[in-house]
Amino acid sequence: MELPDREICYRALETRDARFDGLLFVGVTSTGVYCRPVCPARTPHFQHCRFFGSAAAAQQSGFRPCLRCRPESAPDLASWRGTSNTVSRALALIADGALDRDDANVAKLSGRLGVGERQLRRLFLKHLGASPIAVVQTRRVLFAKQLIHETRMPMTEVALAAGFGSVRRFNEVFRGLFDRPPSALRRENNVGSVPAKMGVTLRLRYRPPYDWDSMLAYLEARAIPGVEVVENSCYQRTVEVDGSVGFVQVVHLPQHQSLGVAIRFPSVRSLPAIVARVRRLFDIGADIETIDEHLSRDAVLAPLIAQRPGLRAPGGWDGFELAVRAILGQQVSVAAARRLAGELVVRHGRRLSVACENHPGLSHVFPTAERLATAEFIGLGMPSARQSSLKAFAEVAASDRNLFRPFGAIEQAIARFRSIRGIGEWTAQYIALRALREMDAFPASDAGLLRGAALVGGIQSTPGSLLKRAECWRPWRAYAAQHLWAAQAIVVPQEGT
Ligand SMILES: [Zn+2]
Repeated sequence: MELPDREICYRALETRDARFDGLLFVGVTSTGVYCRPVCPARTPHFQHCRFFGSAAAAQQSGFRPCLRCRPESAPDLASWRGTSNTVSRALALIADGALDRDDANVAKLSGRLGVGERQLRRLFLKHLGASPIAVVQTRRVLFAKQLIHETRMPMTEVALAAGFGSVRRFNEVFRGLFDRPPSALRRENNVGSVPAKMGVTLRLRYRPPYDWDSMLAYLEARAIPGVEVVENSCYQRTVEVDGSVGFVQVVHLPQHQSLGVAIRFPSVRSLPAIVARVRRLFDIGADIETIDEHLSRDAVLAPLIAQRPGLRAPGGWDGFELAVRAILGQQVSVAAARRLAGELVVRHGRRLSVACENHPGLSHVFPTAERLATAEFIGLGMPSARQSSLKAFAEVAASDRNLFRPFGAIEQAIARFRSIRGIGEWTAQYIALRALREMDAFPASDAGLLRGAALVGGIQSTPGSLLKRAECWRPWRAYAAQHLWAAQAIVVPQEGT
């Protein structure tokens, strides 16, 4: 992992430079605490500072998180460090709980990624400065700390939500780190416990800038009736995880450089998975300054980036839902695809027994793959070939729980999607981009993309020439695509014919 030299790191610390927040952590040898560069505490002596590129690296070296600057509230940019796609995919799987289950281990994780266990450890050390296990343990401590500080959840729930397995283990770890029980860390204004099912509100910090308006416009244009609502600068949706149903609400808190996320869900164990989905959908973890800087070197993209700094590449809430929407969107307008999705939800989605008290429009959860795979009749107003491809896709998704989890190289993922009936190159690239978060995916045959490229760059509008032109946009072609779509105000892409 490459850090700037010590003098530059120290200068960032002295000036409390927010640009380094999330990219740099400092361990103070005289106190044993590690901090964000923006910590309000007195700047430690130069000779007492050790610099790290991730919280996990600092924690693995024996430092404990600072209670003032709260390293857990730094932007989580870990998956963007270095250029290793393997590490990014591994982190996505870890966020998804890949190392939390009883039978989980690093060997299985590396197998899934198509690399040897030793190689994975080596890559983690190189890009994050910590082992996979240290990364998982740090995540647990930091998430628990966030829940302690920001919510009124009872400590037993915090322990379960953060993945500690038992309250005893949770107490041991916190006593080991802070010399006191976890409950002693809760601030006075947060006393009195409120179970998580009554609602939990968290702040997720991003690295600025963040183009919230474009993100919201994108989501609004494709909000599925019954499942998603965008209103008053707020995104809301229904959520189903492991058969339980709840609600999520997301707002922008620009003064805190954060998104505010309110979650109502019956099971606390699902909280990390729900937070991970919010991060993915809103592309919170992007090191956007680095991406914008890279793409700005291109004469065609530079003015677009100057116009929309911080434009994000929206993810998918759920791989299957996203893929179904992509299929429904083949050859039709965005509005038509949205109508079809709404119809699909009414016919096949589960109706909630109690409507959402925040919004009466949230009435259903999106149909599962199993539900669509076993439906006798899809019954939507679209060509029968597309209906059968929808069903074929549902059958594959129902039989392969890992279909939307990252694995191997991007080409493998694309080839796998393409092997399903009715899934062409465009749809496969689009699913890779949104659902698998492949930030280098690029649906070059997309009609909107081709128009955008012709409009702003005079790039000859054939998929082949666009692909060639896009070479220098690697490894962030997804962001280049987002800018080209936005450039001609076609916020939502359409498949080329
Ligand atoms: Zn601090």
